[in-house]
Amino acid sequence: MIRLGLVGYPIGHSLSPAIHQAALQACGLEGCYSLFAVHPDEATGLSDLVTRMRAGKLDGLNVTIPYKQRMIPLLDELTPTARAIGAVNTIYRRDGMLVGENTDAPGFLADLQRFMPPTRRAVVLGAGGAARAVTYALWRSNCAVYVTARRLHQARELARVFQGINPMEFSAEALEATECDLLVNATPVGMFPNIEDSPWPAGLRIPPSTSVYDLVYNPPETRLVSEARSGGSRATGGLGMLVEQAALAFELWTEEKAGREVLMETIGQGAR
Ligand code: NAP
Repeated sequence: MIRLGLVGYPIGHSLSPAIHQAALQACGLEGCYSLFAVHPDEATGLSDLVTRMRAGKLDGLNVTIPYKQRMIPLLDELTPTARAIGAVNTIYRRDGMLVGENTDAPGFLADLQRFMPPTRRAVVLGAGGAARAVTYALWRSNCAVYVTARRLHQARELARVFQGINPMEFSAEALEATECDLLVNATPVGMFPNIEDSPWPAGLRIPPSTSVYDLVYNPPETRLVSEARSGGSRATGGLGMLVEQAALAFELWTEEKAGREVLMETIGQGAR
């Protein structure tokens, strides 16, 4: 019996239980995936879960907002990816140690590779946690990366950590002047319930040669994705990355590989 779960707050609408239950079933494993909604005011909530994992009462844990950074001091080791990004979304046990990993970065890259040919110049909108994982993944792939944030100092901080990244103003003028073959939305703009919002400046055209990857997955087709497609661009939402980061975590916990197509079908998405 494999006991897995997700800690965060709020997490009531998470798709992770459905994805991991499907993965367990597809691999013929008995287990469960629980949601641990730990309110930020709960002093021992996180450490209690870590204690349970050390005692073998939990076999794997996903971590989401607001604990991706706060979890780090409670762990024994970080993978190089998690250390570079400064955030963990997956915890697993190896040789009695608790190891923190970040599967968002390889999850994004794996789905991006299915979505489009190798990208050479990318613009990332936003400079929060997800932007950090995406920027790291692109930077490691030798792609030129432009990070734009409404608070420019956030983008500059990313450029300090990942040398060679270009911070830029979040303005229509700056975006229009920056040619790229990939645009990534790593802000929550357009996410349910604000589905009429788009992070892209009104009136500014996305060139058809620019592909658009929106990390937002609820709704599956955001306004940004829909407008990019109407303008002739290749565009996708974030469900592929969500499934991929989950599948990579599942592999770390169980050493089993779950078919991505089965997991996509579980959350109502067929082939793209
Ligand atoms: P986060 O750490 O809060 O960062 C959000 C970033 O977006 C910040 O730079 C923030 O700037 C910026 N932002 C917020 N509202 C904005 C606006 N109206 N205009 C311009 N910039 C704005 O959040 P996160 O964890 O990075 O998540 C971002 C999105 O990615 C969420 O929708 C999340 O669900 C999605 N995500 C998807 C996956 C996946 O697997 N598909 C994985 C991770 C995250 P300020 O700091 O100035 O607010």
